[in-house]
Amino acid sequence: MERSYVIKPELGKTYPVISHGKGIYLYDKEGKQYIDGCSGAVTALIGHAVDEVVDAMYEQAKSISFAYRSHFSSDAVEQLGKKLAEWAPGSLNWTFFVSSGSEATETAQKIAIQYWQEQGNFTKNRIISRWMSYHGITMGALSMSGHVLRRKRFVPLLEDYPAITGPYPYRKPEGLSLEEYGMQCANELETAILRVGPEQVAAFIAEPVIGATAGAVVPPPGYFQRIREICDKYNVLFIADEVMTGMGRTGKAFGIDHWGVVPDMITIGKGMSAGYTPMAATIVTEEIIEVIQKGSASIMAGHTYSANPQSAAVSLAVLNYIEKNNLIEKSAENGAYLLQRLQGLADELPLVGEARGLGMLCGLEFVKNKQTKETFALSENVSAKVIAKAFEKGLLVYPAVGGIDGVAGDSVILAPPITITQEEIDTLIGILKEAIEAVSQELQQ
Ligand code: PLP
Repeated sequence: MERSYVIKPELGKTYPVISHGKGIYLYDKEGKQYIDGCSGAVTALIGHAVDEVVDAMYEQAKSISFAYRSHFSSDAVEQLGKKLAEWAPGSLNWTFFVSSGSEATETAQKIAIQYWQEQGNFTKNRIISRWMSYHGITMGALSMSGHVLRRKRFVPLLEDYPAITGPYPYRKPEGLSLEEYGMQCANELETAILRVGPEQVAAFIAEPVIGATAGAVVPPPGYFQRIREICDKYNVLFIADEVMTGMGRTGKAFGIDHWGVVPDMITIGKGMSAGYTPMAATIVTEEIIEVIQKGSASIMAGHTYSANPQSAAVSLAVLNYIEKNNLIEKSAENGAYLLQRLQGLADELPLVGEARGLGMLCGLEFVKNKQTKETFALSENVSAKVIAKAFEKGLLVYPAVGGIDGVAGDSVILAPPITITQEEIDTLIGILKEAIEAVSQELQQ
């Protein structure tokens, strides 16, 4: 094969070349079929090659693809802004558009700091975040991320924002009820704010369901309500990072809606345009925008591709498609079915310690010993082995490692397009089971 000039995730490895996709299926150029069991990077929310989205993309491209946000607004971006205001809770009515989840979280970080500065407060510029979290790869976003593996190399350049643990019910201490454990974890935020000093803390950021570092970890009941109380008590903004959980993925419009909590900002990406074009955003409350409007009247953030009409038209078509086909309800219903089938695997297979998730965002954690919940060392690469075996058998599964070594286990994410049927879920489970059994056998040799 001709040499490649592209820097790929793993240098030296040969990747199959994609040909096309349809629904939950992808096909490479050799004609091999794959079930997209994780929507790529939890992105292809409504499946591949949906006609309505492709048509909207073409129609928009015929009139205008790019117009710079400092010169023009566009119908597509205005309509998308309105739609997001309808979807978002409370007074989260204003949207700042960017192109990736990292830009969205870093923009939220900047807006939080600016919000306090506009009120004459120049010390409130720290963000508190959690270990076992991922908020993006750019330096600001990585500063907020508790993704140990991704931080490692850059630690000297990063702010030490991760300060508290995320709730991890599978490994909660013995003797605490789920609710007590949730309160204990949430109260860590109060301790951290008091340690840093409330006058220094601009915001707290968290994923409603922990994704890339731990594999769909759902918080205990009451956790986010207590987080909201603590943020209010100390004048700290609460940012819900919904880049993975947003737009119906968990069976509600936003993950945080499961607990009836209204954040001050919501960041979205991935499923927002379902992978058809790069698109992400930071959704902000009326209160924050009022303060900024009265002050410098401009948010100090933005990128060349922010609010481009092409991506806005695509994202609008994705959200319209979700509404028209009641896909949020389907995500809840078929997500519960997926979780039930994964729980079946957890009951049956010694390697699977826990199946967990919310809506169509599920995870499996692999353990060495089911009774003691002893983890594999990261160097044993168990989840990577399962992912490779599933890939070989035509199923895409997403890795979820990178939390604190020896604390966060070896996990994978199952998050197919929310259009998946129960019959297709059965096929997915069959392949996954074969892959896990094959890895179990290899480990015993
Ligand atoms: N925030 C969360 C919760 C994510 O899961 C991710 C990506 O996985 C990001 C932010 C970063 O998004 P992107 O990779 O589009 O920059």
